[in-house]
Parts: sequence; C-alpha cells; structure tokens
Amino acid sequence: MFHRVLPQKLINQPNAYSVFGTLISLEYLEIVLSLLKKEGYEFVSISELEEQSENEKIVALTFDDGYADNFEYAMPMLKKYNSTATFFPVVEPCKNNSVLPLDIYYQCVDEMILNEEKKFDFIKGKTKQLFYSAEPKMQMNLLNELFGQLPVNNRVSYMSDKQLKQLSDNGFEIGSHGMTHSLLTAEYMNEEKVLAELQQSKSWLEKTIGKNVKAYCFPSGKFNLRMSELVKKVGYQSACLISKKENEKLALPSYDRIFVKPNSLDELKFALKI
Ligand SMILES: [Zn+2]
Repeated sequence: MFHRVLPQKLINQPNAYSVFGTLISLEYLEIVLSLLKKEGYEFVSISELEEQSENEKIVALTFDDGYADNFEYAMPMLKKYNSTATFFPVVEPCKNNSVLPLDIYYQCVDEMILNEEKKFDFIKGKTKQLFYSAEPKMQMNLLNELFGQLPVNNRVSYMSDKQLKQLSDNGFEIGSHGMTHSLLTAEYMNEEKVLAELQQSKSWLEKTIGKNVKAYCFPSGKFNLRMSELVKKVGYQSACLISKKENEKLALPSYDRIFVKPNSLDELKFALKI
C-alpha cells in the first residue's frame, strides 16, 4: 500500500505526509521495486489476484487516494520496472480539481512552528484523531477552528479525469476509494450515504476510463461485514483493506496490505520473508 510519491529533492520539510507515512520518495519506490524484481516477484493488479492464487510469487501494488504525483512520478517508475499496479483515487477531488480537508490540515500543520510534542499530536495524536474521525463537511469547520486563516493555495493536487484515463490506457487498474474519503463504518454514515459513496464513484470512474471498475478500497481500511455486503451489492468484485483479524468474514474477496512508509525496508522484508 502506497500513497504519494515524489523525488527526494521535491519533498519539502517539515512534511506531515512523510511523518504519517503517506509520502515516500521516488528513489525509495525504486528500491522497493528492484527488490521485488530481484526476488522474482511477478506484478499483478488487485483484480488479477484471485485467479492467480496458486502462484506464490506474485505481488499487487496499490496506490491510494489519487494524488497527481502518482501519474507524474509513480507511473513512469512502474513502467521502468514493467510493473503493473492498482490505483484507488478519491473521486471528488479528482473530479472537481480540489483537495481533501486532510490536505489542508497537513499544509496548515507544516506551516506552523511546532515543538515535537505538538507535532506528534497534530499528525498522529488526539487532535489528528478528532479531525480524522469527523465527517468531511465537519472537517472544514474544524479547520477554521484549529487554524483560523487557511492557506490560499493548495500545495497538492489530484489526478484529473484525463490523467486517470491515460493511466488506465497504460494498463494500470483503476479501482474506487469512494467520493469523499468518508469512513464507511463511522457514526456519521448511514446505508444511503454508503451506497452513494460506492455507486457514484464507480459510475464516474467507469465513464472516465471507459472500463468496468471492479476493485474497491475501504478508506482508512475501515470495514465490517455489512459494509462488505454493500460493496458486493453495488457490483465490486474485491475489496482492499489494511488489516483484518483472522477468520473475519467478508462478503467478497478482500486483501490486507503492507503499508509502505519511508524507510520501511526491514519491515517489508520481514513481511515478505526475504
Ligand atoms: Zn485513503
């Protein structure tokens, strides 16, 4: 599981994405790809995993959220290693050329002068938790409460419909990560809202790329059996998670993932037993 990718020289400090783990350098992505290649792994998309389960040496790379850096930097690097991957864009920021409240939050955090304790609280602690568990609409209010003046320009952008189409035309799988990155199991959700997230994102992406969208990825890996039933009902064939308990039942094939953070090579080798 990857998120953002940028050449090292473009990673400004301080950087909340790197601290949280959702931004790695392009150089590090290359290290991971060459390691997998050297170990004899074959790259497949999420939708190809099911049919290839006999073969052990396969790996499915996923890129969540749909940042434009995926198109600009990750795609060429993947092509260099002849690797396929599945991308899970959040539809609203792609469709509207906007960003998620979390992007504004991280930008504000990085522009503030914080001591280590405060920095931890804002990126991984209670304040982050409070913000992250709020409904996206409420997150906008929280931004004003927490930071007052918000930045005029966004420092990140998401892939456009044209870029998503090009990514798909280059052989990469496009799955859905919902419309707004709402957490499906959150208190603020109900089945109507869940179905809207699942259906609207699927149909917009299908219209954009001209292909069937088969894979879904739960925002923040938040799922339960009922949510997986709805994912299946809407017509998805598989779901990506972050982790699940052993024997936990889901309505459709689902995959845990390894979160590839900066400097996580030892963790990765351990997980792959290499
Ligand atoms: Zn996400």
